[in-house]
Amino acid sequence: MISEKVEATRIRKAAEIIKPIEGCLERAVDEHGDGCAVSWSGGRCSTVALHMTLRIKPDVKVLFCDTGVEYPETYHFINRMRSEWGLKNFIRTMPEKNFWACVEQYGLPMTRSEMRRLDNQGVPKCCIYLKERPAMKAIRENGIRCMITGLRAAESRMRFFSIRKKGQYFYSKRWGCWRCHPLAFWSYRELEQYIESNQVPLNCIYQKIPRCGCQPCTGFISWEKQLAKTNPKLYEYVQNLKGQTLLRKFQVV
Ligand code: SF4
Repeated sequence: MISEKVEATRIRKAAEIIKPIEGCLERAVDEHGDGCAVSWSGGRCSTVALHMTLRIKPDVKVLFCDTGVEYPETYHFINRMRSEWGLKNFIRTMPEKNFWACVEQYGLPMTRSEMRRLDNQGVPKCCIYLKERPAMKAIRENGIRCMITGLRAAESRMRFFSIRKKGQYFYSKRWGCWRCHPLAFWSYRELEQYIESNQVPLNCIYQKIPRCGCQPCTGFISWEKQLAKTNPKLYEYVQNLKGQTLLRKFQVV
């Protein structure tokens, strides 16, 4: 968990460069109407972004990039909320190449610091085949002109740099559409307050671990503890692929 101090520094530094836009979400919906879509992973932040958008545009398009290796809790949550929130314009993408084929070809995903050590500035290959390319195809095929996300500058160094460099609401040549990050300057505490005061349902996976996303992802620092706790067999399998020894008390986080 990132400390409040680090969060506050990131938010302040991002806001020194990028002036936060009051009503950024409303502006995006006004300007792009049916061309708006919310990128929804089933995680906390994107669920809040979706909840906020549904209040002003109940028929907004919702894009779920199914990586094929999500937690069972995530699939359950997506299906449940699809029906509870009556998501009419739900778009699900599938990977261009599956996770294990990516691993076979390019190896397991590395953490950002491992990538930096190898002077690799790119995105992990599995992210490209599981999420980015399918999302770009869905943007083109579904007339999406503005993608609303739950990105927060305080959440990680990568997100901080991305928001500080590109902004909160901007046209992205790479994605071929506008990007709107209504939570860009929110702290974790603000996120929790919104969830509590609006009774936003959350993915049950958060009762076990702090992060949802691809189950076998090895691209973040605490992946071992997380996977060992949620799926010891898969953890063992992945560690064998890496040729590593197992955490001694891998059931305990
Ligand atoms: S989150 Fe991890 S496993 Fe999933 S696509 Fe990105 S790097 Fe690969």
